[in-house]
Amino acid sequence: MSLTGKVALVTGGARGIGRAICLELARRGASVAINYAGSAQAAQETLEAVEALGAQGMCIQADVKDSAACQAMVDEVIARFGHLDILVCNAGVTRDNLALRLKDEDYDAVLDTNLKGAFSCMRAAYRPMMKQKSGRIVAISSIVGLRGNAGQANYAASKAGLIGLCKSLAKELAGRNMTVNAVAPGCIATEMTAALPEKVRAEMQATIPMGRLGAGEDVARAVAFFAGEDAAYVTGQVLCVDGGMAV
Ligand code: NAP
Repeated sequence: MSLTGKVALVTGGARGIGRAICLELARRGASVAINYAGSAQAAQETLEAVEALGAQGMCIQADVKDSAACQAMVDEVIARFGHLDILVCNAGVTRDNLALRLKDEDYDAVLDTNLKGAFSCMRAAYRPMMKQKSGRIVAISSIVGLRGNAGQANYAASKAGLIGLCKSLAKELAGRNMTVNAVAPGCIATEMTAALPEKVRAEMQATIPMGRLGAGEDVARAVAFFAGEDAAYVTGQVLCVDGGMAV
């Protein structure tokens, strides 16, 4: 499905799943704004890969925890490309610990980035999208947001919250020809999962019916589906991309 003429903003687009999403959208013809917080070099490499696919792109630094920075980021994308059609809220962090040992700062850092950060970007993007009477918002949740996970109470709360946020905005924005959906990845091979102890990763892999960790590209294709015309009448949905893990 072609995305030619569309403009996308991907938060946390420099590396990991975010980079795969940037490349998939670029491959389909979209112009892509690559947001990063600290990974300037990786963002530049992603931009070069986007341009090598024949698409236009830009890198844009913003910490999604800062709502004013999210607004400025959306304004800058629109100033550069003229409009914004697709927002992908992918930026996310983990600060894992058993709930008994979770510190306030670990809870807040995860909720502020994963949930409030996504809301700040959505709020900045949906005003111009409402005016143009079209727009696609996709949030990267997690199957952990559906099932919970011991040791990830903060992360699970943020990812479950994203689903409630998407379903509510889906209802608010449907009349403006806008869709809001979530992709819930299972266990995807990125730096986030590479940071897990080998034993934990092996145990996780054993619970995946398809027998392998997912790739960023598996998630990116689901995002592209929600961003494209094939999903024009699909909103408020959660699509698990997990090799059957949550079944
Ligand atoms: P990753 O490799 O750790 O990358 C995280 C990304 O988030 C980076 O691009 C990072 O940007 C960005 N980010 C973090 N804090 C940010 C902030 N305050 N402002 C802007 N960007 C920020 O993680 P990943 O595995 O690709 O995960 C991407 C998304 O998928 C996350 O939301 C994650 O929760 C979700 N997910 C991952 C898995 C998995 O198995 N990997 C499973 C389910 C869901 P900088 O490098 O510039 O800081």
